[in-house]
Amino acid sequence: MPYHEFKCSTCIPERKQHAVIKGPGEDLTSALPAGYLSTIPGTISERGCAYCGAKHVIGTPMKDVIHLSHGPIGCTYDTWQTKRYISDNDNFQLKYTFASDMKEKHVVFGAEKLLKSNILEAFKAFPNIKRMTIYQTCASALIGDDLNAIAQEVMDEMPEVDIFVCNSPGFAGPSQSGGHHKINIAWINQKVGTFEPKITGDYVINYVGEYNIQGDQEVMCDFFKRMGIQVLSTFTGNGSYDDLRGMHKAQLNVLECARSAEYICNELRVRYGIPRLDIDGFGFEPLANSLRKVGLFFGIEDRAEAIIAEETARWKPELDWYKERLKGKKVCLWPGGSKLWHWAHVIHDEMGLDVVSVYTKFGHQGDMEKGISRCEEGALAIDDPNELEGLEAMYMLKPDIILTGKRPGEVAKKIRVPYLNAHAYHNGPWKGWEGWVRFARDIYNAINSPIHKLTLLDISKDEIDTGKTFETQTMISDAVLSEEVRTAPGLRQFTGQFDGLKALRGKTYPEFESKTAGAA
Ligand code: SF4
Repeated sequence: MPYHEFKCSTCIPERKQHAVIKGPGEDLTSALPAGYLSTIPGTISERGCAYCGAKHVIGTPMKDVIHLSHGPIGCTYDTWQTKRYISDNDNFQLKYTFASDMKEKHVVFGAEKLLKSNILEAFKAFPNIKRMTIYQTCASALIGDDLNAIAQEVMDEMPEVDIFVCNSPGFAGPSQSGGHHKINIAWINQKVGTFEPKITGDYVINYVGEYNIQGDQEVMCDFFKRMGIQVLSTFTGNGSYDDLRGMHKAQLNVLECARSAEYICNELRVRYGIPRLDIDGFGFEPLANSLRKVGLFFGIEDRAEAIIAEETARWKPELDWYKERLKGKKVCLWPGGSKLWHWAHVIHDEMGLDVVSVYTKFGHQGDMEKGISRCEEGALAIDDPNELEGLEAMYMLKPDIILTGKRPGEVAKKIRVPYLNAHAYHNGPWKGWEGWVRFARDIYNAINSPIHKLTLLDISKDEIDTGKTFETQTMISDAVLSEEVRTAPGLRQFTGQFDGLKALRGKTYPEFESKTAGAA
């Protein structure tokens, strides 16, 4: 039986269905961890709620918008310090947090008046922003405040503003994933088709399920623009509210994160006939294949191939330098829903790491199926782990590094397991060829940091050898390498930029001849 029972959870027998070990030749489809179910009473989940999934994951990366939560201030916890979905308008959406700050008296007497005064006050404070999203929370949902009616009232009084309402309270699903679905459907129901965008090229896409963590969206849009493709909108990282109202005019939906945004792609196909193409911006080969697919769709494969050849030649020697030094290192891949299968095989194939565990807090069984099929035999797959299970897994698996979020990451640090923040990256972007090498560099630096040796010292009693000279990551990693590998010709460490986004934001692109030119 492949199910794994954590010692710390024997008192919660239902938890056993949520963890499996990938055995040799096992039929995965009959032994997937149970997923996307309500958290079992007695286990302390680290999941976000459905409001969090709608607001903090999908809604807030929209950049030119006041994002207002109608509820207690505590619901807005996940803001700048946990998410880094930056934007090219000076990060307006990250700098300010708006909430109606409901109190007990509002629960008793209603909070619609409070909401309206908050909306007006926010527009007054930021007169250049004319777009707003309002998010329902548990408190405002339970008392039955009519957010849509209030929004309409304000829009009638202020015709220059436009407001989107997302009714996805915390309890509207087992996890944040329920909120992803709700906001996808709410956006297409309320806003798509209400704005006519300007079409400037022959090839027009929506880039969907990309949240511009540390600039990922801007890196990917650079490739599309180099191919002569117009990115009409991005759902939603660095995305503009009005561009997203015009999603119906694209020829193709290019989907990055299927777990959070396939719903809107599927609806755009049903309602507007726009096809969906799934891509992957992480890793040399998945990214190359993604650009090839997009190129093939439009009949511009040659443009994709030119980018692939240029970028691979530039960055492969650097990726291989890290691969030689990361080979056989054990990683627990504990990020969100889709990264576990976007990354599981490619960090093994292209960086040499062995994936010894995958977990997801909000993924569905389909995510687990893809993730498990791509990780190593013997790997432990866990759905919605609690903190004690995470600790037990780390003691059992002894990983060299963990790729996860802030909360489990801080626990890992306490037991001296290096961690990288896979949700908000420490030094992104990690997409694109350069980004993938930057990611390898970050993994390498985390594993080989000299700080780990210092953390083993007890300064109150241990002898400190002050005669020792400074130690670098390379001295630590290369001590166990052969001369041949250490001096392999052509390989080199990361030479990319610390902040490449400035250059991207000011970049101009070549004009391609229009395929309709001279057709008349
Ligand atoms: S579960 Fe409800 S109260 Fe808690 S953060 Fe989510 S919306 Fe707010």
